[in-house]
This record gives sequence, structure tokens and C-alpha cells, in this order.
Amino acid sequence: MTDVLISGAGVAGSTLAYWLARAGLKPTVVERSRGTRSSGNPVDVRGPAVPVAEAMGVMPALREAATTATTMSLLSTSGRPVARLATPAARGRRDEVEIPRADLAAILVEAARPHAEFLFDDTITALHPDADGVDVHFDRAAPRRFDLVVGADGLHSTVRRLTFGPEQDHVHHLGLYVATLPLPRPADNPHEIALYNIPGRLASIHPARGSAIAAFIFRGPPHPDLDYRDTPRHRRIVLDAYADTGWRVPHLLDALRETDDFYFDAVSAVRLPTWTRDRITLVGDAASCVSLLGDGSTLAMSGAHTLAEALTTHADMSDALRAYEQRHRKLVAPKQRNVGIAAAWLVPKTRLGITARNLSAKAMRG
Ligand SMILES: Cc1cc2nc3c(=O)[nH]c(=O)nc-3n(C[C@H](O)[C@H](O)[C@H](O)COP(=O)(O)OP(=O)(O)OC[C@H]3O[C@@H](n4cnc5c(N)ncnc54)[C@H](O)[C@@H]3O)c2cc1C
Repeated sequence: MTDVLISGAGVAGSTLAYWLARAGLKPTVVERSRGTRSSGNPVDVRGPAVPVAEAMGVMPALREAATTATTMSLLSTSGRPVARLATPAARGRRDEVEIPRADLAAILVEAARPHAEFLFDDTITALHPDADGVDVHFDRAAPRRFDLVVGADGLHSTVRRLTFGPEQDHVHHLGLYVATLPLPRPADNPHEIALYNIPGRLASIHPARGSAIAAFIFRGPPHPDLDYRDTPRHRRIVLDAYADTGWRVPHLLDALRETDDFYFDAVSAVRLPTWTRDRITLVGDAASCVSLLGDGSTLAMSGAHTLAEALTTHADMSDALRAYEQRHRKLVAPKQRNVGIAAAWLVPKTRLGITARNLSAKAMRG
């Protein structure tokens, strides 16, 4: 086996391309965007992803782009700080990094780029697997044949839909939405993440290096007809959810009105009984999204590395894919079990819930 097609140049896809090339295989990455996209909240690279990043030689670049936050301030409904928690960076944790998602994706693409073929601005339209390979049709490129196809194309994976059926069979809405956008000005305090809650809604300002990122995370019913690429509708949903909200929210909404470069999605978990069919497999959010509530980027990097390692240490591809899935599911399962707890902490439903959360945060601090 030599030719591997990876759909998606995100966190999982770029990591996988790097490791497959290092093992002497020929990865091709097809990415729907024209280049790497700039939106996304800070994400964590920690635990099993750290040795992967170290071995790729990207850890210095990740540290350089890492956020500088040392405290997380929980604000009262009138915007006053009521509890402050230390971030891992403040506790001297050098073995984990918090970094804007866009910077992480860009650094990983740059690491993989010299070793893999990248097809930007394209997508798979049809997959025809047989016993020896997969015939792939693209929207723009000419059809090609690959030994293996990997769906690393995120929550709304095209490879998953073409192989395992409609999205609604596997994607479970967790009752929350998330929108994030870069702000035109740096945060007032480059070391403080500010979290403002009112019942069912969170607005936050997260400092990054020389800039800041706003996030809106809020409860809402499923919109069954929601097109996840309908930017004007996403903007309207956020504006409606935060109308008449205090603190700095009106300014954050002004920034949202003025940009198309924002990320919006329903916070969702992806659950499938198996990640592999024939010569097609899934990795990262496409296989097992835990959304913003459980180390998605860390799992994407470590899953990609586990898959590359299995493919290079097993002579038989089916054995390799089985070994990858068995090993990586052990990391994913506990994270998927905890998403409800994280949601309740981050976005309490009631005023009483916000007060109780803030009191418990104060107590944690001691
Ligand atoms: C622009 C963006 C912003 C994000 N912001 C946040 C955030 O603020 N908070 C949060 O919790 N999570 C966010 N995420 C999701 C987060 O990055 C993932 O949960 C995590 O990094 C897992 O990585 P992944 O590689 O599996 O998926 P992703 O990092 O989502 O990467 C998937 C890649 O596949 C590409 N893709 C999608 N469909 C196709 C297709 N049909 N053909 C080719 N390529 C395709 C996407 O453009 C993307 O580059 C964001 C994702 C994106 C793409």
C-alpha cells in the first residue's frame, strides 16, 4: 500500500499526512477551503498529542503561537469578576499548549506540506471501493485511484456521509451552539480569559498573542434545516440569542456584524459503531467528535498518529485499521462520556446554576 487520500487539511488530516510520508507512503490531502482558515477559538495540545508534536518538531512553533492567558475570570451577571481560576500555563505546565485553532492548523499544514500533495479548493464527490483500492471522483480534479481513503474532514465529514450514510444517523446535537471570531483589537488584559454568563448563554473574550478571540456558546433547540455553510443565517442566530445582553456583548456583536470570518456550529458528538468500511476509514472529528467540550484537537492529533503507526506496523490493512480503532477508542470513550458535565459547567441553564458554578469555582481555588 502506498497511495493514501486524506480528505481535510485540518488538525487530524495534516498530522496524518506528515506521519504517513515519514513512513515512506504517498499521502494526498484534499481540502475544501482555498487555504487554511483563520477562525477558531484557542484549543489545547496536551497529553498524548504532546509527544506527537515533539516528534514532528513543531513544539517550538506551537509554544511561540500559544496564548498568554494565566487566569480565567468568571464574571457575575453584572460583569463583575466573582472567581478567578489559574490556567495550566500559570501553574507552570510547560508540557501543554493552548493555541488558537487556526494557528495550530496552519503549523501542522506547514509541517506536512513538503512531504505530501495538497489539493486545495476541492472535495471528494464519489467513492467506489473494491477489493484492491478506491476509485475517487473529485469536484475539480480528475478521478484517481487510491489504496486507502481517510476521512479527516471534520464534524460534517463528506467521506463519512458517502460511506456510512446521512449525517443525522451519527451526529448528535448536544443542545448548544458555538460561534467564535477574531476581534479587531487585542484584549485589554493579555493574561485574562473573561467568561460572562447569563442563563443558557456564555460570551467570552480570550486573549491570543497580539489579538483576541470572542466566543458565544449558548443553548438552543436543534435547527433541523440548518445549513452549516449559511453564514448570514448563523450570524442572525447569534444576534437573536444575544439581543439585550449586557457586559461587552454589544461590542462583540458589532464585530460579528462586520466579518464573514467566523466559526459557527452546533456542538455535537459523533458516534459510529465502526470507523472503517472496506478501504475507507475516519479519524478526528469525522470519527468521534467530542466538540468543544473534550480535547478534540488533542484527540485528532493522537488519533492520526495512532492510525499512521498502525498502517506502517501491520502488513495487512484490515489488521492495521482494526488495531487503530481498538487503541484510539480507549482515549475517545471517556471524553465522550464527560461532555454533558462540561456543558453544564460552561453554560449553566439558570441564574441559580451560574451562582452555584461560580461558588464552586471559588472553592476550587481555595
Ligand atoms: C475553521 C474552523 C474553526 C473551528 N473553530 C473551533 C472552535 O472555535 N472551537 C471548537 O471547539 N472547535 C473548532 N473547530 C473544530 C476543531 O478544529 C476540531 O474539533 C478539532 O480540531 C478536530 O480536528 P479535525 O482535524 O478532526 O477537524 P477540523 O479541524 O475541523 O478539520 C477538518 C478539515 O476538513 C475540511 N473539510 C471539511 N469538509 C471537507 C470536504 N468535503 N472536503 C475537503 N475538506 C473538507 C475543513 O475545511 C477542515 O480544514 C473548528 C474547525 C474549523 C474547520
